[in-house]
Amino acid sequence: MFSDLTAESTLKFVAKAKSLAKEVKANLGLGEPDKPPPRALVELLKDSTKLKPTYTPSGGLKEAREAVAEWLSKRYGADVGPEEVMITPSGKAALFLALSYASTRYSSAKLFDPTYYSYEPVLKAWGVSVEKVGMIKGELSYEFPEIEVGREVVVVNTPANPTGAVLGERLLDLVGMAAERGGLVVSDEPYDVFVYEGKHYSVLQHEKWREAAIYVYSFSKILSVPGWRLGALVAEKEVIKKLSAAASNVYGCPCKWEQVALARYLREHPEDLERHVSDMVSEYSRRRDMVVRELEGVASFVGVGRGSFYAFPEFEADGEELALELAKRGVIVIPGSVFSPGARRNLRISYSAPLEELRLGLGILKEVVKEG
Ligand code: PMP
Repeated sequence: MFSDLTAESTLKFVAKAKSLAKEVKANLGLGEPDKPPPRALVELLKDSTKLKPTYTPSGGLKEAREAVAEWLSKRYGADVGPEEVMITPSGKAALFLALSYASTRYSSAKLFDPTYYSYEPVLKAWGVSVEKVGMIKGELSYEFPEIEVGREVVVVNTPANPTGAVLGERLLDLVGMAAERGGLVVSDEPYDVFVYEGKHYSVLQHEKWREAAIYVYSFSKILSVPGWRLGALVAEKEVIKKLSAAASNVYGCPCKWEQVALARYLREHPEDLERHVSDMVSEYSRRRDMVVRELEGVASFVGVGRGSFYAFPEFEADGEELALELAKRGVIVIPGSVFSPGARRNLRISYSAPLEELRLGLGILKEVVKEG
């Protein structure tokens, strides 16, 4: 139970890799967009620091909840109300709350494998039994397998970290099955805008999301502000009340200044946000093509999906040894084992890193693989 709570993380491996590198030449380890946050957003944050830094309600300021509800409703043609939204100090905090709540109602969960490392330890810590369903290898990339949803929790992350897979419209079928059979889909969608082929669908597009889904969001990627720690959670309003009560006993409330800046930015600068996103997506799309070209020569499976900004290639070598050798040569990537015990020959490569670093890092990776 709670004593088994583990903390495998990319941050942990990056710290180890940095200690091995004499000089970090290419950091392809973390999922941090290289593009700076929108200037208008930063100005709004500066402005908001003139406000007294008081506590806010634990579920977030009314204006921030309203702004996020309006923004999501517009994007997904949904009808999300502010009482169905809570602002959280990070996507991870929202996930912990959503998974903890789910654990009070369900004794079993389904996860895709590989998937983001934060779901399994939390579910297991609360005594939930976890079944993993393997991702399928497609031509270039991993794909989501067909699954059945029963009276259980299913955690979906699309577009996916670390595989880049995009589930698309099939996400709505999972919500439909969960609604019919008394299950719950916890949908972690921080890479929503990072889709290079196809289209992202959200659980909020299903008319029954209130009974069968919890939506989890992070502003880290879309606004390029991973260090701000800003996220959101959307659920039926009684769930939000319970989770806000839990939040008040854990972290109290999210940062007031950031909430004010976020609310104003979403409401007052929609075109600026659109530009910020489209610049990032077109740049990452080019980088993705380059990653495919470079890896085709050295990886046994390229593993570059249609979304997020990660490649998850497989090699004819041990991923951890490869990652450590790369670290010694100044290139940071994450061994696949952080995401799945079955991904021992994989590396996760983030192409949100600056182009020059990416080029350099892939060049050194090629050398190391060829040296064998
Ligand atoms: N879910 C996934 C799939 C992620 O990749 C991340 C961050 N890398 C998070 C959640 C957490 O986001 P945050 O930075 O807001 O904690």
